[in-house]
Amino acid sequence: MGHTYAYRCERCGYEEDFNHGYGYLVHSQPVREYLERRSKLFHYKTHQLIEQLARTKDNLFIKAGFQVYKCPKCKTLSDKIEVVVSNEEKVLHKSEFRCNQCRTRLKLTNIHRLNKATCPKCHNKTFKMDHEHPELWD
Ligand SMILES: [Zn+2]
Ligand SMILES: [Zn+2]
Repeated sequence: MGHTYAYRCERCGYEEDFNHGYGYLVHSQPVREYLERRSKLFHYKTHQLIEQLARTKDNLFIKAGFQVYKCPKCKTLSDKIEVVVSNEEKVLHKSEFRCNQCRTRLKLTNIHRLNKATCPKCHNKTFKMDHEHPELWD
C-alpha cells in the first residue's frame, strides 16, 4: 500500500504528485517469481542485473517500492522506484539515482517529515505538501 502526496508551490501554483510505498506488482517478492512473470517492471539495466545475480545466487529477494528523493544541491523532489536485491546475508544491489538537472546523487528523503522543498518551476522554497488531500492507493 502506498500514498500519493500532493505538493503545491505557494508562489507560482505549480503542482506535482509524489508516490511513496508499495503497490500491486511493486512490492517485495522472491527473484524467482519476478523472473517467471516475464514482465519487466524495472529499468532494463536493473532487470539485467537481477537476471545476472539470479544465475549465481539462490534465495534472492527483491524489495521494490516508490521512494521520494531529494537533490542535495537543487533541493527538488522526485519519486523513483527503488529496487533492493538481497539474499539472507546482505544487500547485493540498491538503486541509485542522479538529479536530471545537476547529476548529483539523489538522497532518500522522509516525505512524512519533509515540509518544504524548492519548486522545480520558479525555484523558490515555497513547494509544500498539500496536507488536506493525502490519497491512498494499492
Ligand atoms: Zn513555484
Ligand atoms: Zn540537482
